[in-house]
Amino acid sequence: MKHNFGAGPCILPKEVFQEASEAVIDFDNTGLSILEISHRSKEFEQVVLEAEALVRELMNVPTDYSVLFLQGGASQQFAMVPMNILPEGGKAAYLDTGVWATKAAKEASKLGNVEIVASSADKNYTYIPKNFAVPADAAYFHYTSNNTIYGTEIFEKPIVPIPTVVDMSSDILSRVIDVADFDLIYAGAQKNMGPAGVTLVIVKNELLGKSGRVIPSIFDYQQHAKAGSMYNTPPVYSIYVSMLNLRWLKAKGGVDVIEQENLIKARTLYDEIERNPFFKGTANEMDRSRMNVTFVMDNAEQEAAFLALAKERGLIGLKGHRSVGGFRASIYNALSITSINALVDAMKEFEEKQSS
Ligand SMILES: *Cc1c(COP(=O)(O)O)cnc(C)c1O
Repeated sequence: MKHNFGAGPCILPKEVFQEASEAVIDFDNTGLSILEISHRSKEFEQVVLEAEALVRELMNVPTDYSVLFLQGGASQQFAMVPMNILPEGGKAAYLDTGVWATKAAKEASKLGNVEIVASSADKNYTYIPKNFAVPADAAYFHYTSNNTIYGTEIFEKPIVPIPTVVDMSSDILSRVIDVADFDLIYAGAQKNMGPAGVTLVIVKNELLGKSGRVIPSIFDYQQHAKAGSMYNTPPVYSIYVSMLNLRWLKAKGGVDVIEQENLIKARTLYDEIERNPFFKGTANEMDRSRMNVTFVMDNAEQEAAFLALAKERGLIGLKGHRSVGGFRASIYNALSITSINALVDAMKEFEEKQSS
């Protein structure tokens, strides 16, 4: 058995893989593959409608928000956000908590003025800046709720006087949030919602059409909203598999149920990192992510030996990002406590071997 701790694209439930594979041969008893079916067919229209309804239900999305399924990944949203809501010559406020936050700010700076309100670059992004001031004259405030690379997470939405945009690519649907706290939420699906190829955007309708910019239709949220995410050919298969995964989450009991599981998973792993003398966490304790657990060894020369042992035990995708080193265990919704226990057992086994 393999335990996939990869950061993204990531593990999805086995049942989802099973159903998704069957639909490649015969989708919904149509006699056609999901890969060949028209995106305008009523069968696929049902898929998009159900995916949207599931997002609305699972996240309790207020009715004055649009739910969109777009392409181009979270990286396209780095550009689409300012195109749509940053007026010419306007200013936007960004919180710098790592690589993705930096990239988002960089794209916005091509379209207007960006003020970095705080940064944790001074300590290689191992903590979340607190108590920063956000300019009231900026068009919006942007932050990254979970820093996939550094293993830090922002659980409480910062209180700011302007609209808030959040990149939730790696913690969407992992814990209960109040959508009404935000004006725009986006997430590349491949970290916790589905396969690569689709991006979820949840945007307050009131925000749209106000930047005064002339933007290409394909980048205009209003065009996508008007067309029900069918402005052009959507990523049919990615939306379908995301819908299956959303169904799985609903059948499990929803976001509050998975949140409790995620809490136990994260606690189990962090407890072992703290207990085991060979390992240590890299993130500030109060800012530690429940989705990406980053840790290193006191003796970095032993890291290759632990990775080799992990591989023997079927533990995949544990090598840390090059900017942090060591290890990163991505423990998204579909990763079970069984896999966490397998990792903890490997860490204990490593300790015993070294100590004997
Ligand atoms: C992976 C990731 C991105 C980039 O996503 P793409 O879909 O590859 O563009 C952006 N933000 C966060 C937080 C991520 O984890």
